[in-house]
Amino acid sequence: MNKVLIIGAGGVGNVVAHKCAMVPEVFGEITLASRTVSKCEAIAADVKMRTGREIATAQVDADNVAETAELIRRTGARLLINVALPYQDLTLMEACLEAGCDYLDTANYEPKDVAKFEYSWQWNLQERFLSAGRSALLGSGFDPGVTNVFTAWALKHHFDEIHTLDIIDVNGGNHGHAFATNFNPEINIREVTAECRHWENGTFVETSPMSLHQSFTCPEEVGTYEIYRMYHEELESLVKHIPTLRRAQFWMSFSPNYLKHLEVLQNVGMTRIDPVIYQGQEIIPLQFLKAVLPNPGDLGERTKGRTCIGNVITGVKDGQPKAVYIYNICDHEKCFEEVGSQAISYTTGVPAMIGAKQMLEGSWRKDGVWNMEQHDPDAFMADLNAHGLPWTCVELTPDQAAAFQVA
Ligand code: NDP
Repeated sequence: MNKVLIIGAGGVGNVVAHKCAMVPEVFGEITLASRTVSKCEAIAADVKMRTGREIATAQVDADNVAETAELIRRTGARLLINVALPYQDLTLMEACLEAGCDYLDTANYEPKDVAKFEYSWQWNLQERFLSAGRSALLGSGFDPGVTNVFTAWALKHHFDEIHTLDIIDVNGGNHGHAFATNFNPEINIREVTAECRHWENGTFVETSPMSLHQSFTCPEEVGTYEIYRMYHEELESLVKHIPTLRRAQFWMSFSPNYLKHLEVLQNVGMTRIDPVIYQGQEIIPLQFLKAVLPNPGDLGERTKGRTCIGNVITGVKDGQPKAVYIYNICDHEKCFEEVGSQAISYTTGVPAMIGAKQMLEGSWRKDGVWNMEQHDPDAFMADLNAHGLPWTCVELTPDQAAAFQVA
């Protein structure tokens, strides 16, 4: 019987726990651990109510390798699903190596004191995972995650060569708060205030944050939104593993209201991550801001509307130019009804469960450290349809595809 250890009991951890519990033939014994054990217990009670399954809970400090390794041994876990924060990626990978366990996460490592995220630290563990006979799957959320698999699937079934990729992440949801972030505010604000980078003819080109935007009309009447070009971590692995890519860009929708609040918060220094002294005590403004903002895990109850995340891909097939758009639409209220979380947590947690399923079933379990697009996409794509994130692929006309070729 497969034993798994989920670490992190936030919005995403809640979804992963529920979705794993719904697939008992793969996830035989589940332990949910986090820093605050009461959050694990609340999730476990909800899982029991909705699915009838018991899951174990535990307290752990994921920054502490020895403590986490001990928990892995105690639970007998074969796979650790990391849905804590990107700060914990390296300590959790170390703990897996120490205790003999496979590893999966949904976001790449980021040091606490530098707003910089990249794969290098985790890719550097390749030799150690190989020689230990352990497998790690990086970035098994939606973006990164499903967007990587969409690209791999398009390459396998629709193209001989991919030339351009535009990942478009629209959240058409409304939570009714003046300002809130849909996932961990600290990570979210670090991401959207970073310099923009996109791939252009063999190199990353840097531009000012949010300096390029355009209007995008989602399919299935999700609506028309302003999308902003920004850097996103899957670009780094995709351009490495798909060398024919000439341009790769990532776009995300933001409402004027979100951007107005963010600008003010930045201007007054509330998004800083260096310590300031307040009444004799060191505080990090961004961490303080997180404490006063709504908890993303609590947004589900009041969020209405849908998300629409997908890839516009162009390239050639049999010598002819071709373009496709592959997307998923997810309804916030339906997610809340199913697992008690909004769609941002749902669209991250479901692919984490599906990635874990591929590893436990063996098809994605290869020694070493892997990104999503390096595995065969077909079973993962089928599981998206089976477990709550159905997708659609449409062919685009050259004119439609050209709308995204923004210089
Ligand atoms: P939350 O902040 O809601 O939850 C994080 C959880 O991790 C909390 O339960 C927190 O505990 C726990 N945690 C933090 N530090 C430690 C520690 N040292 N030891 C043990 N537990 C710890 O975040 P989300 O659920 O919104 O996001 C989870 C992950 O998913 C993040 O890495 C995020 O970047 C990623 N993500 C990925 C996406 C994708 O599409 N790929 C999209 C959205 C998110 P406590 O409650 O005590 O603070």
